[in-house]
Amino acid sequence: MVHIVGAGCGAPDLITVRGAKLLARADQIIYAGSLVNPELLSRARPGTPCHDSARLALEEVLELIQAGEEKGWDTVRLHTGDPCLYGAIREQMDALEERGIPYDVTPGVSSFCGAAAAVPAEYTLPGVSQSVIITRMAGRTPVPEREKLRSLAAHGATMVLFLSAGMLEEVQGQLLAGGAYREDTPAAIVYKASWPEEAVYRCTVGTLAETARAHQVQRTALILVGDFLGEDYRRSLLYDPGFSHSFREGKGDKK
Ligand code: SAH
Repeated sequence: MVHIVGAGCGAPDLITVRGAKLLARADQIIYAGSLVNPELLSRARPGTPCHDSARLALEEVLELIQAGEEKGWDTVRLHTGDPCLYGAIREQMDALEERGIPYDVTPGVSSFCGAAAAVPAEYTLPGVSQSVIITRMAGRTPVPEREKLRSLAAHGATMVLFLSAGMLEEVQGQLLAGGAYREDTPAAIVYKASWPEEAVYRCTVGTLAETARAHQVQRTALILVGDFLGEDYRRSLLYDPGFSHSFREGKGDKK
């Protein structure tokens, strides 16, 4: 059986309890070595074969899994953050299904959560934004036309950009072209959230590219954009003393 497991975004203690248990009893581990913290591999039993998938094509990953199945092994396929974002797991799941190999998925702490913790910030602030757009700049992997950064930027919502830290001149231009963000809309570059090298560079939409240059950030970073990084917001109704909801009777009549 194959366990697809989210490793979390860096710190080895950010893996889930379930993920850690699966690692501890794995017969082989295939991990995305480009971003998975190798310290996690020490949770495996000594001598467990560990393969870095950064060097492998999907077909080679499948061969390792198939060979494991033939020995009755449990394979842990360890992905960075949460596997549901830019994890390329759909093609693996489909291939496993085709071969009749059972699998399950254990979520992980995505880097967009790790980055919010690093700032620290709340993406969904009342009166500011109640939506988070998770996207990327088109690069060698294209983005569908209707999701071009410029059109997504027309909403002015909280935005988290993956896989785009090396293209910030273009990102900046597209964000401004959308019409809802200003040159001075707050932004942040979060480098290696939850790793020992973690760094948060606060800037604005207009200074994203120059900030990345100044700190030599090109990869393993998320770009956060939006007024949630600013000073103004409204208090939540949830904890407002005058607001009633199913768990609490409010003192006022704001319902
Ligand atoms: N599935 C992963 C994302 C994989 S795509 C997740 O849920 O986080 C790889 C991209 O994720 C990187 O280019 C970078 O933009 C981002 N990333 C991954 N780990 C990161 C971290 N610790 N800090 C900041 N960005 C990170």
